[in-house]
Amino acid sequence: MMKKLGWIFAALLFVVMLAGLYFNQYDKRNGTEETVFLFDTICTVKAYGENSKEAVGKAVDRLTEIHKKTDVFSKDSEVTKINSADGGEAIEVSDDVIKIILVALEIEEKSSGAFDISVAPLVDLWDFHGEGRIPSAEELEKAKGIVDESEILLVGNRVIKQKSETKIDLGGVAKGYAGDVAIEVMKESGVSGAILDLGGNITFFGTNPESENGSWRVGVQKPFAPTGEYEEIIEKEEGAVVTSGTYQRYFEKDGEKYHHIIDPKTGYPVKHDYSSVTIVSDSALVADCLSTACFVLGEEAGKTLADCLGAEVMFR
Ligand code: ADP
Ligand code: MG
Repeated sequence: MMKKLGWIFAALLFVVMLAGLYFNQYDKRNGTEETVFLFDTICTVKAYGENSKEAVGKAVDRLTEIHKKTDVFSKDSEVTKINSADGGEAIEVSDDVIKIILVALEIEEKSSGAFDISVAPLVDLWDFHGEGRIPSAEELEKAKGIVDESEILLVGNRVIKQKSETKIDLGGVAKGYAGDVAIEVMKESGVSGAILDLGGNITFFGTNPESENGSWRVGVQKPFAPTGEYEEIIEKEEGAVVTSGTYQRYFEKDGEKYHHIIDPKTGYPVKHDYSSVTIVSDSALVADCLSTACFVLGEEAGKTLADCLGAEVMFR
């Protein structure tokens, strides 16, 4: 019996030594990785080189800050302050929120309203973050009447809604902005390379010490397949690969799937014969808006919009 235990002990020691070797190697490249739950999803931040630990810490702090400001479910986020404001009331917000809204308004215009942060009253009705429910035609009609981004005015750092019912949802854009900001923070900290995965929004820069030529390889997930089954690998030096899909957040009722990307014109989840849209762009912020916008627009108009913003789009 003791002899058997001895063998088990020796085997365990061997495994621990091997793990030690592996982690040492990881350490030699000065790699630091941290995983946090923000933006209602799993977020991983990884950096290499000198100061990687400090850089990852700073990036996570900024991600947390942006999450807190933009969280539509939190009582005291800036978005909630905007949403509960009266018509005509000026709400002072941070530079982060202003920058996000500015880009969102620009993409709304360029996508002829396919991307629209004032879609919030419609998103609320479908309750994707709760049990999920199918709203009645009347409810949808009423909410559609409220969706209108031209009701949102920006004056310096103040947001003014013309009507109190207007509400915004930054779920289709905040992660993109956060990705760009976190990369900027890590660049400033002097790391040699970094990559972030904010629930399918991948942003990266610098050298990847884990690949032969130093570039980053991002796998585009096969829709509805188990995590890790990739359809295509995108290789790029710097920028973002962002995917919006029907398979990430949806509910099922009577055999029908209802996913979380809403066509502001119909009020219903968009129906197409693809189930995911991937954008490759230099900016994660643009890529995030575009992935949602192109999903709504469809292949032809989506491709035109992506071209106009210097991005690549893939429908699957
Ligand atoms: P994910 O959040 O899974 O990465 P998206 O970037 O496509 O996916 O964002 C979807 C989220 O954006 C929804 O959960 C909702 O909050 C919001 N949204 C849904 N439809 C639209 C739309 N047409 N325009 C802007 N935002 C939208
Ligand atoms: Mg998006």
